[in-house]
Amino acid sequence: MSDNVSQPRLLLRRLHSVMAAGGSAQDRLDRVAHLIAQNMVAEVCSIYLSRAGGVLELFATEGLKASAVHQTRLNIGEGLVGLVAERGIPLNISEAPNHPRFAYRPETGEDIYHSFLGVPVLRTGKVAGVLVVQNVTPRSYKIEEVEALQTIAMVISELVASGDLIAPDELSEDAATLGAPVTLNGTKLSDGVGSGIAVFHQPQIKIKRTVAEDVDAEVVRLEQAISTLREQLEDMLKHPDLSHMGEHREVLETYRMFAYDQGWQAKMREAALSGLTAEAAVDRVQQDNRIRMQKIRDPYLRERIADFEDLASRLIRILQGCETSEREALSDQTVLIARNIGPAELMDYDRTYLQAIVLEEGSATAHVTIIARAMGIPVIGRVSGLLSHVEAGEHVIVDTGSEHVYVRPSEDIIESYRQTAKLIRKQLEAYEAERCLPSETLDGKRVNLFMNAGLLVDLPNIENTGAEGIGLFRTEFQFMISPVLPKVDEQFKIYSAVLDSAEKKPVVFRTLDIGGDKQVPFLPRDEEEENPAMGWRAIRIALERPALLRFQLRAMLYAAAGRDLCVMFPMIAEVAELKRCKAILQKEINRLEMYNRVPPASIKVGCMLEIPSLAWQMDLLLNEVDFLSVGTNDLMQFFFACDRSNPRLTDRYDLLAPPVLSFLYSVIQACNDKDVPITLCGEMGSKPIEAMALIGLGLRRLSVSPTAIGPVKRMVRSMNLDRLEEFMLSKLSSADHSIRDSLAHFARDHRVKLG
Ligand code: PEP
Ligand code: MG
Repeated sequence: MSDNVSQPRLLLRRLHSVMAAGGSAQDRLDRVAHLIAQNMVAEVCSIYLSRAGGVLELFATEGLKASAVHQTRLNIGEGLVGLVAERGIPLNISEAPNHPRFAYRPETGEDIYHSFLGVPVLRTGKVAGVLVVQNVTPRSYKIEEVEALQTIAMVISELVASGDLIAPDELSEDAATLGAPVTLNGTKLSDGVGSGIAVFHQPQIKIKRTVAEDVDAEVVRLEQAISTLREQLEDMLKHPDLSHMGEHREVLETYRMFAYDQGWQAKMREAALSGLTAEAAVDRVQQDNRIRMQKIRDPYLRERIADFEDLASRLIRILQGCETSEREALSDQTVLIARNIGPAELMDYDRTYLQAIVLEEGSATAHVTIIARAMGIPVIGRVSGLLSHVEAGEHVIVDTGSEHVYVRPSEDIIESYRQTAKLIRKQLEAYEAERCLPSETLDGKRVNLFMNAGLLVDLPNIENTGAEGIGLFRTEFQFMISPVLPKVDEQFKIYSAVLDSAEKKPVVFRTLDIGGDKQVPFLPRDEEEENPAMGWRAIRIALERPALLRFQLRAMLYAAAGRDLCVMFPMIAEVAELKRCKAILQKEINRLEMYNRVPPASIKVGCMLEIPSLAWQMDLLLNEVDFLSVGTNDLMQFFFACDRSNPRLTDRYDLLAPPVLSFLYSVIQACNDKDVPITLCGEMGSKPIEAMALIGLGLRRLSVSPTAIGPVKRMVRSMNLDRLEEFMLSKLSSADHSIRDSLAHFARDHRVKLG
């Protein structure tokens, strides 16, 4: 099929004329299936469409038995077709019948086809169906073939949108639930409660035409829209509102930088040149970005890509000529509803009106979350089905404590909200008052609380939270948002700014943890890795490309001239690796002398414990480091052999499982015995109950997200260490799946405040 995919424009045109021709929608769809199979030299082309209730129905096929059309139905997640719909990303396999999710449907006769390529038919980000091609010969389809099929899927989505194939009320949105009170679950992104009227961030973007009549004209339209977008962002940065928001300006600057990303522009141009309209080209590239986003495990970096989503919808609105500001639609009691929203879009709103934000996507480290948090707006994200359960103008209550969104709430929910709002107000006042209190247990043991950071916007939080310093500065974030490798001088400026704002408080700079799922634009990967988390990343790249590490260390040494410097190496698997890193650092230290540069007042070197193998070299390791930091986010996925990004495994193992606790206990004890400071900087430390367990195992230093400092300190100040240590030791040999419940009981019995 590769010969033909070089001419996607031609195929799109043919599809367009089929669609524009007369006949029933079903006839047109049948002809579309035929044409795709023919052009892509596939023995099978099948089109499945989503119906109400999460069912995928075979609507047309070329190659499978015709009698299966409208008979074969699969649930979302069922079979390979259901898997494509569930994930919303392409599936390309050479031996379909061997795939564990293959569900054989005898009425289709598909068992003779080995290779399978399925892509989602996406409509405004939702899966409206699945387009499949199959071949008898086992083969893996080429990337260009996958891309061509994705482009074709856009044309099919146009046909679906016409409403001729499936009546709108039979589409997959569950309209039946509207009217009754509904409680939706999500994830807390920014603390608080809020109540108000649902306002949709933007009317759903509908792309009416996907195939270009005049390709050159579409390219020109696209380029003009990109210029308008850039002008809008420049204007936004000049907005007087921003002058009051010093630290957030940085976030918007980063966002503006994306609007100038050459790669993004080139891809959209390419999509337009393939025969799509300018709007469809923007959406097509956005589909790829969404897929990339799903592959990236680091939520922070995922959100950097989500900024493109924001830009893409802006661009489509410009192309469609609907640029009106949403501000007029707001009342002073607004709960903003969106699939996702970018930082600049949030800036379009008068923030005094916003009571809360609810997102179908979103993550704790999104730019928009950073800004919302700084503005004190409660946010709940990852609310699946949000957009189909809420109507504009309905009453919505957001409670981040229970992580619930109440749509059309009943009277008792409204009353309970009032009570919660009162309580939260009191609690925030209390955290604020405790900011300067020591982080010390009732029996006088100190627990040092540091914060994690990654961008300059995070820095004011040192002051706001009363953190004792930065326990983990993830340097890769600065690299991720830069299209080119930041020069020593640029890195120097960043590290200096970090040290400046920390004043005399310690800062631990972690060297680059890029690669794997944290891709940087200037270091392309040659090939997809099967297991990126266990792949070519972090120190493995640094030791192979030592210049990268040398420049980074040089910038750190310059920035710390006359001050204290703490450097930490990530993903160290063995002491030998650490020694090689230290040798590189030593070269840079020697270089300072050679060039008569002022050295740091002190240099401390540490490493992350993220790979279990390192724990079997503790004695050797502790002779080599000044400090150790436990990265449980990675460590635990390797410890349990359990991919942390796999949603099916989210609750499979618990961090408060006896094997985890025994392992951490032995590591903590080894460090304490040798007086080597050990910090835990994974997310585990940010939850009061987990932090409590760690402290009970002897840990005295935690580096947590800025918002966790208040609650963790509150927990520390309410507990008595002696009893906790005894309790924790008694649990190490337990055969239970987790000690979470018994620890929660212990906390209750001993009045430990877990929030
Ligand atoms: C960790 O793995 O726990 C960690 C802190 O590193 P990151 O989350 O950046 O991978
Ligand atoms: Mg890690």
